[in-house]
Amino acid sequence: MNSTTTSTLATPDLLAIRALYDLPFPELMFRAMQVHREHHDADAVQLCTLQSIKTGRCQEDCKYCPQSAHHPDAALMPEPLMATEQVLVAARAAKAGGASRFCMGAAWREVRDGAQFDSVLNTVRGVADLGLEVCCTLGMVQEHQAVRLKEAGCKVYNHNLDTSREFYPEIITTRTYDDRLTTLETVRRAGLEVCSGGIIGLGESLDDRIKLLHELASLSPHPDSVPINSLVPVEGTPMAENDPVDPIEFVRVIAVARILMPKTMVRLSAGRTEMSAELQAMCFMAGANSIFLGEKLLTTPNPGRGEDFTLLRRLGMHPLGGEFPVADERAGEDGTWAKPCTSQGCGHDHSHEGAGHHHHH
Ligand code: SF4
Repeated sequence: MNSTTTSTLATPDLLAIRALYDLPFPELMFRAMQVHREHHDADAVQLCTLQSIKTGRCQEDCKYCPQSAHHPDAALMPEPLMATEQVLVAARAAKAGGASRFCMGAAWREVRDGAQFDSVLNTVRGVADLGLEVCCTLGMVQEHQAVRLKEAGCKVYNHNLDTSREFYPEIITTRTYDDRLTTLETVRRAGLEVCSGGIIGLGESLDDRIKLLHELASLSPHPDSVPINSLVPVEGTPMAENDPVDPIEFVRVIAVARILMPKTMVRLSAGRTEMSAELQAMCFMAGANSIFLGEKLLTTPNPGRGEDFTLLRRLGMHPLGGEFPVADERAGEDGTWAKPCTSQGCGHDHSHEGAGHHHHH
């Protein structure tokens, strides 16, 4: 199917990436596995937690996002900036639950100097003091702000490209692709690691996916981590009726990302709730080596951590740089987390969690 899709790619780099993407699936997987093993422990998965510290009422108009003030029909309860102590409670729980990285997202268009940013800096200090790696995603940021984040103990800044430059105006009109690239340069200059990726399933063409991968792989140095999201269509957003992403195509995207950016952490992000154990396993085999733990990604459902540990155990994999948390061992004894889940999907009740959102800015 892929090779019959009309392509408008012009440059040799893009054609080469497309050729990679179009390889017979077993060959593509084999190459991705080779690269993965050269640079990573292929049995380890980095465990991150994503916490929304300010939810909703965002001035940006990202079409997929229920947090945008432009989509008032999306059922989302806006929440003001969380106090430092509140976030620290969540961070301690994340750490006890086995996470090594704590990402904080605020639905801001950009960081503004003032009491709120000062509070975030205080929170960053507190989370870093717990021994967690701190990542922030706060929208556009200026260099002096990025420097302050770094000084407070923030290690990584997330700011996603989302999609190709060409398709981007179909998704967001309130901020340009170049604004995004500028933010990435700014945080890099401030000494922060860069986390930047995209979303598959926005209605983009295959060539758009190729161009997004090319764009990410053209960043020099490569992003330290690249989250690949599978769209979770949210009611009340213009993307509510989008077609589901073909799982094989999704794995191809992961595999190509792994090959193009050998040292990068490739993060399997939004959309995991809809993925079978087998599909997630295939993503790990293709080179994904980072996931978000916990029941929500900002506002969209995510598998519970018990299910994630169960999956990793079934696969004989382990958390990167650590063991399964003590809490998980305990839960395993009474069998509640150790059993492979048998119900369709997971049997976990996500119904109370409401509308959702992805990891991106
Ligand atoms: S994706 Fe981020 S920037 Fe876009 S509307 Fe949602 S919260 Fe705002």
